[in-house]
Parts: sequence; C-alpha cells; structure tokens
Amino acid sequence: MAGVTIVPDALCSSLVDEETAFRAVSDVFAAMSNGEARNFPVVREALGYEDALYGFKGGFDRAGQTLGVKAGGYWPNNHTRGLINHQSSVLLFDPDTGRISAMVGGNYLTAVRTAAASAVSIAQLARPDVKVLGIVGAGHQSAFQLRGAVRQRKFERIIGWNFHPEMLPRVAETAKELGLPFEAVELGRLAAEADVIITITSSFAPILLAQHVRPGTHIACMGTDTRGKQEVAAEYLAAATVFTDERAQSVAIGEAQHAVAAGLVAADAITEIGDVITGRHPGRTSAEEITLFDGTGVGLQDLAVARVAVQVAKEKGTAIEVSY
Ligand code: NAD
Repeated sequence: MAGVTIVPDALCSSLVDEETAFRAVSDVFAAMSNGEARNFPVVREALGYEDALYGFKGGFDRAGQTLGVKAGGYWPNNHTRGLINHQSSVLLFDPDTGRISAMVGGNYLTAVRTAAASAVSIAQLARPDVKVLGIVGAGHQSAFQLRGAVRQRKFERIIGWNFHPEMLPRVAETAKELGLPFEAVELGRLAAEADVIITITSSFAPILLAQHVRPGTHIACMGTDTRGKQEVAAEYLAAATVFTDERAQSVAIGEAQHAVAAGLVAADAITEIGDVITGRHPGRTSAEEITLFDGTGVGLQDLAVARVAVQVAKEKGTAIEVSY
C-alpha cells in the first residue's frame, strides 16, 4: 500500500506564510515561462444548486515535479452557515507512478497563493515610488491581498471602496494590523489617489471605468476568474499594458475576456508575468505606463503552495500519514 499525506486546512497557515507563497508562486510562473510547467484546461461549472460554481484546476510542473488538481469552487451562501464562500482541496500525485501522494486543504492556500500572485505583479510591475494602496473589495480575500501587497513596496496608507460598504471595517482592521492608516473613499478618489489598486470582488459589471484611468497606476485585477465576471471596463484595459498569469485563462475567464471580445486588446498583446520574471519581457517601461495584471488563478499556483505545505508538514512532523 502507498502512503498518502493529509494536510488539513487548519494547519496550512502554520506551514505556508506570505513569503514562502510568494517564492513558490513566482518560481512556478517562471517555470511556465521556461516551458517547464503547464496548466490543464480549467473546468468551472455553475451547479444550478446553491448558486455554486464548482470546478477543477490542474497542471504539471516538471521542474518542481508536482502533478495534481485542485477541486472546489465558490458557494456564495456559505457565510450564512459560518463558512467561507471558497471551498477547495488539492490532490497531489506522484509524477513517476500516478499514485496519489497527498491531500491538502485548499481554503487558506487559495487565499495566500492568490495574494502571492498580485504581490508578484506589484513586485515586478509597480513603480518603485508608490505610496498609496487602493483596494476594491472587502471579502475574505481582501486581508490576504493587503498583507501580500505591503511587503512589496513602502506604502504609506491604504484607501478602500466596496460595493457593500458595511464590509469595509474588515479592511480597516487589516490596515491597522499592518500599521497603516486606512480611509474608506468614493471610487473617484480611490482611482485618483491610489498608485496601486487591487480589485478583489465577485462583480459581474465593471466597477472601475474609463474615467478612472490614471497614468502610472499598477492595477491587479484578482476577482475575475469566471466567464461573465468583470471588475474593470474594457476601455481601462485598452489604456494599459496587460499582463496575466496565463494568457489562455485571461482571454477565456479573466478580466481581459471583455476587452479581447470587444476587439480593444489583442490576445497576443497580453504578456504572461513569468516572461517578466525571467527577463523575456521588460515589464513596466515608464513611470506613466499603466500596468494591469489579470490574475485569473492557475492550478499550478495551487499545486506549488500545496507542495510546500506537504514538505513543511512532514519536516515539522504535523502531517497525517495514512495507507491507501
Ligand atoms: P467574498 O464572498 O468573501 O467577498 C465578495 C466581495 O465581492 C465583497 O467585497 C463583496 O462586497 C463584493 N461583491 C459581491 N457582489 C458584488 C457586486 N454585485 N458588485 C460588486 N462587488 C460585489 O469573496 P472573496 O473570497 O473575497 O473572493 C472575491 C472574489 O475573488 C471572488 O469573485 C472570487 O471568485 C475571486 N477569487 C479569485 C481568485 C484568483 O485566483 N483570481 C482566487 C480566489 C478568489
């Protein structure tokens, strides 16, 4: 019988911190650019039950010898049950034999790997002198996003806007934890004052519009991960240099789906961030350039952080080993 390592969700925050996730995600984006890692086509389906979206994201990282799949999705009514809306688990398989090797809780890891992706984009693309961090969104992911972002630049304050303003105290609490002043502002002010903007909502209509475009901004659009969702107007993308985790996902389910469909952005003008990490693309080339990162969330990100969780849990002796 083979051994399977189980790492429960509740353990993961003690195993994978922001810095570790940042490195794992940056490395796997680079592996994608080097042709050593690839994502498999995403399955994401509306169940027609509980308004849930359910699916699979998988891939194979030959360089990191990681093969697997994340299964799960988004249950918008979970908060009424005291659960977070995202629920997922990662299964890892031995690339040599195909046998299952690990089962890892995916809820914390999803949040920390998503925050790591936007943090990588800020590290690679934001101006060095940015001071004001703006966030659109105040759900479960927002705290992780802020924690990841502030590690990349010397931000002096955070400003935020949310469709449901009553949720903004969560953002204020996170800003306090990070030792930065926070102010809830109108959208116009957010766009005018923020040097870096993170959008992390489940919106199906653009929130930031053409009138909100401001030269020099870096914007990480992290909420759109399904066909039909949208946080930013197509015209905003047309004014920006567009980067993404994976071009195919960006065009199909990411923020760029609308701008590409409208003919405002050409699919082949979208650069994968791995190409910036590996030096194949220069990234930002002027202080006025608007850089936009379309973070769609790829399976390889999940596998990368799950692999670290398994490795550290084994080292710490906290992994659960079962025969299977
Ligand atoms: P959540 O349910 O905790 O919060 C939802 C957020 O969206 C809140 O800020 C809420 O006010 C806002 N919102 C809800 N309905 C809206 C509407 N009609 N218009 C505008 N805003 C609205 O969710 P979360 O866990 O914080 O996730 C936020 C989004 O990020 C989701 O859409 C989720 O699918 C996406 N996500 C993306 C990735 C990725 O890798 N790209 C990873 C995780 C989550």
